[in-house]
Amino acid sequence: MKVNQVEMIMSAVKPEQYPDDGFPEFALAGRSNVGKSSFINKMIGRKSLARTSSKPGKTQTLNFYKIEEKLFFVDVPGYGYAKVSKSEREAWGKMIERYLTGREQLRAVVLIVDLRHPPSVDDCVMYDFLGHYDIPTIVIATKADKIPRGKWEKHKKIVKNELNMRAGDPIVLFSSEKGIGMDEAWREIENRM
Ligand code: GDP
Repeated sequence: MKVNQVEMIMSAVKPEQYPDDGFPEFALAGRSNVGKSSFINKMIGRKSLARTSSKPGKTQTLNFYKIEEKLFFVDVPGYGYAKVSKSEREAWGKMIERYLTGREQLRAVVLIVDLRHPPSVDDCVMYDFLGHYDIPTIVIATKADKIPRGKWEKHKKIVKNELNMRAGDPIVLFSSEKGIGMDEAWREIENRM
């Protein structure tokens, strides 16, 4: 999809604040600093609409981006940042869980992982959680530009195996730096609208 129009609608922490347009929603999840903001910005063709923050774990709200009056990207705050307190972590968990398990408009979660490394424990926990609730998941393995092309398949296999990916869930190699995987990522999203 060629994106012309994007509107940052709102930041929400509870259901009363979610938008009521009824468009299909795709939630973006990933550990802090994995490249989630860069992915969003690349996909919507903006330099810095989604915050690329050097301070991981900063965004603690669900941010809704309305795209082409058709769908929403829902930016979920990154997980796995060690420096947040237990109570912050619990509040985060509750907010995410409520959204992911109770949102009718949610079509799929786009889970961003780093192609260079095996998925973290937190990545695996998140993926298992989504499976438990039967939420379709599109895995995006980003920073592919940092791996030689000849090693992509090997790394892809490691990500798939470690996550123990379910049949039907796709994995897309991506690079925000080079624009690799954009069309494929959009295809997977549009297929699930
Ligand atoms: P977030 O915390 O998950 O939103 O991560 P960011 O999007 O802020 O990215 C974290 C860091 O990784 C930044 O320094 C980005 O420039 C870098 N980064 C993100 N995506 C890519 C990519 O595809 N390739 C490369 N080489 N660097 C990336």
